[in-house]
Amino acid sequence: MKINRLPKDDKTNGWSAILPGRTARPPLAGDVTADWIVLGAGYAGLAAARRLAQNCPDQHIVLLDAGQAGENASGRNSGFAIDLPHNVGSSLDELEGSHRFMRLARMAIDHLEEAVKTHDIACDWSRDGKYHTAVSPRGTRDVLEPFVKELEALNEPFTWIDGADLKAKLGSDHFTAAVYTPGCVLMNPAALTRGLADTLPENVTLFENSPVTEAQFENGVTFTTPGGTVRTPKLIMAANGFSEQFGFFPRRFLHLVAHASLSRRLTETEQRAYGVAAPWGLTPVNAFAGITMRYTNDNRILIRQGLSYCPSQRVSAAEQAAVKRRHKKLFDQRFPMLPEVEMEHTWSGIVCLSRNGAPGFGQLAPNIWSAVCQNAVGVTKGTFGGILAADMATGHDNPLIADMKSLGEPEQLPPRPFLDLGVRTRFQWELWANRHEA
Ligand SMILES: Cc1cc2nc3c(=O)[nH]c(=O)nc-3n(C[C@H](O)[C@H](O)[C@H](O)COP(=O)(O)OP(=O)(O)OC[C@H]3O[C@@H](n4cnc5c(N)ncnc54)[C@H](O)[C@@H]3O)c2cc1C
Repeated sequence: MKINRLPKDDKTNGWSAILPGRTARPPLAGDVTADWIVLGAGYAGLAAARRLAQNCPDQHIVLLDAGQAGENASGRNSGFAIDLPHNVGSSLDELEGSHRFMRLARMAIDHLEEAVKTHDIACDWSRDGKYHTAVSPRGTRDVLEPFVKELEALNEPFTWIDGADLKAKLGSDHFTAAVYTPGCVLMNPAALTRGLADTLPENVTLFENSPVTEAQFENGVTFTTPGGTVRTPKLIMAANGFSEQFGFFPRRFLHLVAHASLSRRLTETEQRAYGVAAPWGLTPVNAFAGITMRYTNDNRILIRQGLSYCPSQRVSAAEQAAVKRRHKKLFDQRFPMLPEVEMEHTWSGIVCLSRNGAPGFGQLAPNIWSAVCQNAVGVTKGTFGGILAADMATGHDNPLIADMKSLGEPEQLPPRPFLDLGVRTRFQWELWANRHEA
């Protein structure tokens, strides 16, 4: 089958722009055979390849990616490795589900942290925690107060923070209240993804700039790229939303685009005017209307705002220019003491969601496994999905596979154009209903 829709990462990712240059691994050339293909070098594929290599030290794993490490969604996100569910429910079933998610997410964070420490990956990895933050009293009442009750039921540590104390932490009086939880890790995602790609075990060969344009699933798996082919008996699919073109998960995935901007570094005078010394990260109580933000170790401010339906998985330059202007306006509203600070980098990335928030995980055929559809929390979800797909594929007994399976399977979506209409209407409604959180 032909694979027509290929990833097209523009060169706008701010996280990689602030790093030193990196030489990509050579593209696939000629005809290669191996024991395994892992398709996609995001968090899921990187974790799957690393785990396969550990589980099968005598086997050869080929990891293929259409682009370069750190330029994909994994390298251009907001850099939160999240250990708690976004929305915790209070019933016993929901609490047990939250415990399962936390076990999985914390295993992923430990896996990433071990790689960061073992290989000295310079990605500003830091267990800074995060502030879940409401702009309006309504957001505080409807989301933060129930969240506190649920954290208590889960026996999870947190701090309630509001008023002048919150302003002192974030340097902005735009927010009403926040719940601080300590388990989230903040980092530069491009540096982390590059670091993971550059420190893979010796029995993994990574080919970058190698888009798969044709796939055959007879007598094993054969993938064709512009420079050559790779043929293996077994595959782990980790191409996230692009995997549906390979015939997997038909009509199960929603493609969204998310936008982010990174300011230039604040000067010393601006840092004094801003008045906050410690880095922080905040997530909004509503992901559609609200803004994810960070103050980084190198004194930049990140804004992640705008989430829209994007079935084409493409973003125009005009749309990005409009986003940049909007992000500057939002920045000025929150940080009026920093009027001269421009958004140095603005970029977009594609995320893959399922209707019911379930991952595309498991065995798809006797020789094919998958770890896709991370529902916009791919740092941890992609990592644990990749690890557990590799364990499942190699018959490695891991009790967390049961936790992973309990997350369910992606539900089928209505056909287009009904889907398009429904999703666009729903997103507009979300924005309107939560406009007090903007
Ligand atoms: C702006 C933004 C902010 C976000 N913030 C966060 C956050 O703070 N925390 C968080 O957890 N998540 C966040 N996310 C979501 C997160 O980035 C994704 O969930 C995660 O990167 C998905 O990882 P993955 O490995 O599944 O997929 P990807 O990173 O998308 O990797 C899939 C890979 O498959 C490759 N591929 C696809 N098709 C082909 C082909 N035909 N041939 C070869 N290779 C192919 C692609 O090139 C790509 O590298 C954010 C996303 C965006 C865009």
